[in-house]
Amino acid sequence: MALIVHKYGGTSVGNIDRIHKVADRVAQAHRAGDQVVVVLSAMSGETDRLLKLAHEATPNPDDRELDMLLSTGERVTIALLAMDLRGRGINARSFTGRQVGIITDSAHTKARIARVTAERLHEALKHGVIPVVAGFQGINEQSDVTTLGRGGSDLSAVALAAALKADRCIIFTDVDGVYTADPNVVPAAKRIDKISYEEMLEMASLGAKVLQTRSVEFAAKFNVPVEVNSSFKEGKGTLVTREDADMESVAVAGVTGDRNQAKITIVGVPDKPGIAAKIFGPVANANINVDMIIQNMGLDSLTDLSFTVPRADLRKATPLIQGVAKDISAKSVSVTEAIAKVSLIGVGMRSHSGVAAKMFEVLSHEGINIHMISTSEIKISCVVDEKYMELAMRALHTAFGLDQPTK
Ligand code: ADP
Ligand code: ASP
Ligand code: MG
Repeated sequence: MALIVHKYGGTSVGNIDRIHKVADRVAQAHRAGDQVVVVLSAMSGETDRLLKLAHEATPNPDDRELDMLLSTGERVTIALLAMDLRGRGINARSFTGRQVGIITDSAHTKARIARVTAERLHEALKHGVIPVVAGFQGINEQSDVTTLGRGGSDLSAVALAAALKADRCIIFTDVDGVYTADPNVVPAAKRIDKISYEEMLEMASLGAKVLQTRSVEFAAKFNVPVEVNSSFKEGKGTLVTREDADMESVAVAGVTGDRNQAKITIVGVPDKPGIAAKIFGPVANANINVDMIIQNMGLDSLTDLSFTVPRADLRKATPLIQGVAKDISAKSVSVTEAIAKVSLIGVGMRSHSGVAAKMFEVLSHEGINIHMISTSEIKISCVVDEKYMELAMRALHTAFGLDQPTK
């Protein structure tokens, strides 16, 4: 008998009809003899709706209260699914994050899981009960409700699979797997049968929201086999697993685009030691993650320094940087939101050369200007104007031979 964690995302539980379909699938797995633990998201759009309400209540809502509010969306879906299953005579029970012992730190709205006790899950499984668990939520040591960051139900599912030593964690969503690029942006994208944790981690953190980044990190750390599959149709999905020899045979496994960045440029920075620390120290202290940085040397011992920050942090970062710029006697600060980061990912880059050169050539051929570049062993990213992001993704997808053969 296999123990499988099923996670259903927002679209998959978006209305009662869809919840019935989820119940069908869970019932089928149960009948087939699997032990099933279900993790659910809130109905699609619900977390955004709650966030909007919070911002209507006050411009800058308190993080602890936000978590109290946002965690309610998942309570609705777990109760509805458990009722549906029980109505069919199947012994299911809903549980909140707290009830299954998902203990986190106190970083409200982006809490990290510290440990999972899972006592009630073991108990439920022992008695043949199907637990239906609220994703995205936990509690801190003070028993306050926390949430795990957007898309965090993926993390709940993987963490429970690790705690229960489940045979597999299946992420059921609105696509039938991980594709070589977001199929909604690149229609020629192909489903990938098998992808390494490392590539998936890069793809997720560079914009492929099909899996939450931290869920992939967690899966890699605890070696949880994750499958991504469609909740709407039967068929093969994508297995996220350890790297194997054939994965290196292609240079580029996937293309991503990320609109969640903004660029800040400080013009006329005096070129002397200690300046970078003066600029980035306060940014780090404000918990803002700087991603890419470039510095252009001018002739007059002044430099221009550009860097990217998450767009959501721009409101916090701008006054901070304006203050620092004044302190270091820089000339001015400019901010651009309309940028996007386009990236190529592949473990094969370790053994294939020339990927960067080809990427620059493809972008130049499309007349797309590159603002910033960054590379690591298995990825290359370029910042371009946001309006060219989708064009760049499609052109790169074709140029690196990832397009599906046309039928
Ligand atoms: P859920 O609500 O089930 O968690 P998400 O919306 O978080 O679903 O994730 C699924 C979406 O991820 C897809 O609809 C797709 O548009 C998007 N996506 C982005 N990049 C990829 C990719 N490389 N492969 C598959 N889907 C992707
Ligand atoms: N409901 C949460 C969100 O929309 C968590 C999730 O869906 O995974 O971010
Ligand atoms: Mg998701």
